Amino acid sequence: MSVIAANLQAVNRRVAAAAQQAGRPAGEVTLLAVSKTFPAAAVQAAFDAGQRAFGENYVQEGVDKIAQLGDLRDQISWHFIGPLQSNKTRVVAERFDWVHAIDRLRIAERLSAQRPAGMAPLQVCLQVNISGEASKSGVAPDEVPALARAVAALPGLRLRGLMAIPEPQSDMEAQRRPFAALRALADTLRAAGLDVDTLSMGMSADMEAAIAEGATVVRIGTAIFGARDHATAPEATQARPA
Ligand SMILES: *Cc1c(COP(=O)(O)O)cnc(C)c1O
Repeated sequence: MSVIAANLQAVNRRVAAAAQQAGRPAGEVTLLAVSKTFPAAAVQAAFDAGQRAFGENYVQEGVDKIAQLGDLRDQISWHFIGPLQSNKTRVVAERFDWVHAIDRLRIAERLSAQRPAGMAPLQVCLQVNISGEASKSGVAPDEVPALARAVAALPGLRLRGLMAIPEPQSDMEAQRRPFAALRALADTLRAAGLDVDTLSMGMSADMEAAIAEGATVVRIGTAIFGARDHATAPEATQARPA
């Protein structure tokens, strides 16, 4: 078995164990394999081991990989999970299935206008600055309801829920707090009549805490593909992922 296949198996076991611990069916949690900085061959290895949902952070890198794996296009769901600048929305609207990090209306409006008519709606989440740090991307929690209403009304998009990247914490209690806050915010949206079903939260180091608080998508890179090479990865220029 390849290293990636073995890692995937271990991560799927972690997800299942965390779901069971939380009294949730394991099928409620989708594993999104974050393949940023890794080549198409790594995605292919994960695909061969049964993985079908992949996350990318950088537009050009993601688009290149989608093209390289064009034969598998109908079998993979591709998620754009990085920060998105308005001059790069078109290719994302044309090539991806999901966008997780919408943090302002202008980006959603562009994606809506640029989503090709023949394609299924682009599935989108709003990124929430749940830990409240000034340096982080994401919309402030009190601005989420208004943005959610506006995004839900746009053609070509389907608002699915909320996403967050909380400040890293080492203990489970501290990890759970921001995830609980994100879940509460999604409950508020549902109470206001919005049809949201997705909580995109939890990474390699905190997936158990996220699943305990209701994550429906966990975004896992390192635990599947290994450590990223920070010397070559353009992550240093970003708000946080690493
Ligand atoms: C890189 C990244 C991940 C994966 O992080 P790991 O710690 O490697 O699991 C998840 N979400 C986002 C938004 C990322 O940028």
